[in-house]
Amino acid sequence: MPNGMLKTAKKLTLMGARSFGAYAALRRSKWRTERLLILGYHGISLQDEAKWRPGLFMTPDIFGQRMEALSKQGCTVLPLDEAITRLQERSLPPLSAVITFDDGFHNFFTAAYPVLKRHGYPATVYQTTFYSEWNEPIFNLMCPYLMWKASGKVIEHQGLTGKPGSFDLRTEEGRKAASAEILGFARSNGFSREQKQDLLRRVAEALGLNYQEISDQRVFTLMSGDELSQMVQSGVDIQLHTHRHRVPKEKHLFIKELEDNQNFLTQIGAPRAKHFTYPCGVYREELFPWLAEFGVRSATTCDSGLVDSRLNLMQLPRFVDTPGVSQLEFEAWVCGLRQFLPGRANAQLGKDGVLL
Ligand SMILES: [Zn+2]
Repeated sequence: MPNGMLKTAKKLTLMGARSFGAYAALRRSKWRTERLLILGYHGISLQDEAKWRPGLFMTPDIFGQRMEALSKQGCTVLPLDEAITRLQERSLPPLSAVITFDDGFHNFFTAAYPVLKRHGYPATVYQTTFYSEWNEPIFNLMCPYLMWKASGKVIEHQGLTGKPGSFDLRTEEGRKAASAEILGFARSNGFSREQKQDLLRRVAEALGLNYQEISDQRVFTLMSGDELSQMVQSGVDIQLHTHRHRVPKEKHLFIKELEDNQNFLTQIGAPRAKHFTYPCGVYREELFPWLAEFGVRSATTCDSGLVDSRLNLMQLPRFVDTPGVSQLEFEAWVCGLRQFLPGRANAQLGKDGVLL
């Protein structure tokens, strides 16, 4: 079935289910009460980021509607740690949910937290910390974003890479190639974080963009140490996501990622972390005992689904929400109906989520 027809069929199924009372019946069901919905978000868009990468950025208006829907449907939004305990004790309240954010973008501080506060919802931020410490725009996001902002242009790149040739930014393919060239250039030359920032500045200038203005908007900047401290004091739960947003193959390097991550969180005044989410949603079974050894109680993935008490706590599915999901479908996740329908995409972010 073509994609458009499939979407229409899904919409009709969900509309039918809602009008026949299936949503309401499921919301009150024992089946749903035994399960936990963990919602996953990344950034809230401040400018046009959601148009650029809707998998990574949610618009503020849709985020507001989602939070409103949780309230209207009578969800109990629990802190993550309490939810895990009650899941194990089989004492979850009806229609339970947890709200999580990956990476800890600056826009959590400005755009998400105020909405959560208004509703009185607890939330967990899985904070990757390299770019909190070095509080500049994330190179691997800013570079492709600049290429996208300059869509339609064709520019010579010898002044940037030293190699003759041009970037053709008229097509998606051309923009991807241009970004890959710059990222590869920085990597192969072993650029420091300062050199990467300088390169971004020069790329923006070559593209005719105002880098300072884009950088000042803090679109691709994570929360600083100060902002994180404020969030901790406001009761936001800050948890682990590795320091450099990566999962090394060797155990001692993976543990070092967790240690560096934890050390920064300790510096900003966060209590010892006990929960983790896998960078880009990519995980391997051998990580489970390593995490447990480090004192981690639970780890979430980007696999879609509701959590029940039989699942491995190191492999908890979530519903990673994006602006492309209709409100009808969001509500189908809240009541649990969506779990029974086909097409539950695994929301692994792949290269889209590579921050460092
Ligand atoms: Zn991440």
